[in-house]
Parts: sequence; structure tokens; C-alpha cells
Amino acid sequence: MFELPPLKYAFNALEPVIDAMTMEIHHDKHHGAYVANLNKALESAPDLQSKSIEWILRNIQQVPENIRTAVRNNGGGHYNHTLFWDWIAPGGSKTPSGALAQEINATFSSFDSFVEQFSNAAITRFGSGWAWLVVNGQKKLQVLSTANQDSPLMDGQTPILGLDVWEHAYYLKYQNRRPEYVKNFWSIVNWDFVNSLYQAAKG
Ligand code: MN
Repeated sequence: MFELPPLKYAFNALEPVIDAMTMEIHHDKHHGAYVANLNKALESAPDLQSKSIEWILRNIQQVPENIRTAVRNNGGGHYNHTLFWDWIAPGGSKTPSGALAQEINATFSSFDSFVEQFSNAAITRFGSGWAWLVVNGQKKLQVLSTANQDSPLMDGQTPILGLDVWEHAYYLKYQNRRPEYVKNFWSIVNWDFVNSLYQAAKG
């Protein structure tokens, strides 16, 4: 059984960027539903219940076809949100440092142009989805976006930073102004967590 991880900070900890009601509904209701529906989908596949969510997503093609879409959507939703609560955590370094900062500069020419490229991926993702900074199959940094709750893990890539651009993530406060939500996101990113995922992915 997968479980909804508790939020490590108060619902209002990210105000004014993300309001308390959005955080409460997003964590308790949306993420909670992904976990409940993932567990329900896996009732018929007991061998998968002991696997990690990372393993299941990396090996999504091995999931039985009759539950694959449910596992893809809800397992992706569970994993993406588990990371997201730590990416937007209060505190932590507000800019990348060390090897990650160097590789961002080398790959995107500057931190500002990385921010611009990632923001553009987030703003132009049509409908529901996520923008990502990943370590790709060649162990290089890459910006991309996915639809729905698809995780880069399904394509052999490791997400080290992600932004939820489903309307449920921002609509109460920002309504149709996704670009404003994306712009403000940068002030609450916890780069210490990004850096830890980067180091693990680079091995
Ligand atoms: Mn969400």
C-alpha cells in the first residue's frame, strides 16, 4: 500500500506565492486521490505492490495492460507530487550551487537562460502537465515538459526539478495567469533538494 506522505510544512508556509487553500486541496485531495487510486489499481497485481514507485514508473511497460493507464496516471501523480512538495519547500538555498550550477551554466549558457527555457516549457505546455529539468539518458541536463501525470522516469530520464502546471496547482489564486504562477515559482524553489537529486542521478 502506498501512502500519502505528510506535508513537511504548514499549508500557509508558501504564501503569498501559493495560498494555503490551494496547498491543502492540492495535497490532501488531489495527491490523496492519486494514492488511493494507485492502490486500487494495484489490487489485481500483488507482485507490484512491493515494488517502489520509481521501479513501477521506470518499468511501466511491464505493468499489466488492463491497469497500465491507471498506474501511469495515478502512480505518476503520486511520484510527481511527492517530489513537488520538497521542490517548493520553504527555506533552503534559492539558487543552485556547486557542480549543478556549473552544469546549468554550461548547458544553458546562464542561470537566467535556463529559467527562461524552463518557464517557457511550463507556460507552453498545452492543458495539464509538468515542466521538468531532468538528467537524461546521456547523463546530461535537459528541459522538457510532459502531459498529464507522465513522469520522465517512463522515458529513462531522472527528474531533478519539476513544476506542476495543472490548473489545480494555481487556479484559486492566479486563475488563467499561468505565466505569473510560473514566474513566482522561482522564489520558492528549494535548490538544496534539487542538488541532492542531481548528485544521486549523476552517480
Ligand atoms: Mn498537482
